[in-house]
Amino acid sequence: MDASRLTFIQHVQTYYLLTCKTCYNIAMTMTPIHTQKKTDLLALTLPQLQQWLTERGEAAFRARQIYSWLYQQLTSDFSLMTNLPLGLRDKLAVEASIGPMIVRSEMHSKDDRTRKILLELADGKLIESVLMLYPPLKENSGRATVCVSTQAGCAFGCTFCATGQMGFDRHLSVGEIVAQVLYFARELRASPWIAAGLPGSTPIDHITNIVLMGMGEPLHNYANVLQALRILNSSEGFNLGARHMTVSTVGLVPAIRKLSQEPLQVNLAISLHAPTDELRSQTMPVNRKYPLQELLAACQDYIAATHRQVTFEYVLLAGVNDTPEYAHLLGKLLAPLAQFAHVNCIPVNATSADYHTPGPDAIRTFRNILFEHGVRNSVRAERGDDIAAACGQLRTRFEKNISKP
Ligand code: SAH
Ligand code: SF4
Repeated sequence: MDASRLTFIQHVQTYYLLTCKTCYNIAMTMTPIHTQKKTDLLALTLPQLQQWLTERGEAAFRARQIYSWLYQQLTSDFSLMTNLPLGLRDKLAVEASIGPMIVRSEMHSKDDRTRKILLELADGKLIESVLMLYPPLKENSGRATVCVSTQAGCAFGCTFCATGQMGFDRHLSVGEIVAQVLYFARELRASPWIAAGLPGSTPIDHITNIVLMGMGEPLHNYANVLQALRILNSSEGFNLGARHMTVSTVGLVPAIRKLSQEPLQVNLAISLHAPTDELRSQTMPVNRKYPLQELLAACQDYIAATHRQVTFEYVLLAGVNDTPEYAHLLGKLLAPLAQFAHVNCIPVNATSADYHTPGPDAIRTFRNILFEHGVRNSVRAERGDDIAAACGQLRTRFEKNISKP
């Protein structure tokens, strides 16, 4: 390990000691990285695992037992799967793995409501995942939401996005997507979370939601993403309801249409970010391929097919897309969908790009104009600013640190 990387890790370790109740080992190994040629069990559906076992002369019913170990007991070690014969446990240790990746760093925000990990994949690529914790509020129970990456880098180059500025490395495998969720599930199981200052509230000990809003474009990696969601949804395994899963897309029209036909009815979020083609094409190059009219038509068809609400994400960029004029244009654009549309206003998280977060007055005015058009909306609270929680920021910071002379 070179000196600058070591310095960064020491810096992060110091950060933990200062900020965390629970301190984590810095390069915590989930499964040794040399297992990359083995079959990653986290990539297999239950029927596929049954087939994998029968091909190796094992009884198919063992698949359910293994599934339970993986997704209910959250085990990451074959030797602990005590209801499997020793011979099978040994075979699994030789031929299979459980989401091999290394946790390069883990950071907790000062209030411990946001945790971010930087993961090194078997080929050395770096990705990020974030856990967001929400205490119970009135009649709502608490939530633990994992923000999952679906690609290393991203091909779509949105100008305000740190991941977009990295370019595209590769799609994540099914197992690499599932493993991010399991990592935080294990962490919460081992150490349930109670919000500071709310000692009497019920501890959160499991993942309640996932959002595919980490690095990458989920619908560009369609097959692997859908397979990962089916695995996490399986009632014999992790059993996370489809309504607790949200796919966020830059607006890939054919894939949105395909998603509307899937039996798995997940939530759909569209990264809109501008109400005119001219402005959208400036910040989101994908708009030149799938302009607003086509995108909105696909959303309309999605709503007709699924009868489900669509969330429109709108990153507020001060002086760029947050003016009252743009608010009116956005209101008019979405008014025909109003009953099924919700706008999520997101004050931009600072990246290296030259964009600024609007002040509270500009945000309030923008939202009120949307209400005037009958468009429901909310504002996403900023999270984890102190740990670079916007997608791609931690990897960018990490790489800058290790490349310093
Ligand atoms: N590629 C998908 C999902 C990953 S990005 C998509 O674009 O929807 C998840 C969300 O984070 C998107 O709405 C994206 O526009 C937003 N985002 C990207 N950079 C951001 C930043 N600097 N500040 C706030 N939100 C950002
Ligand atoms: Fe890619 Fe989404 Fe970032 Fe755009 S916002 S560059 S699609 S990750």
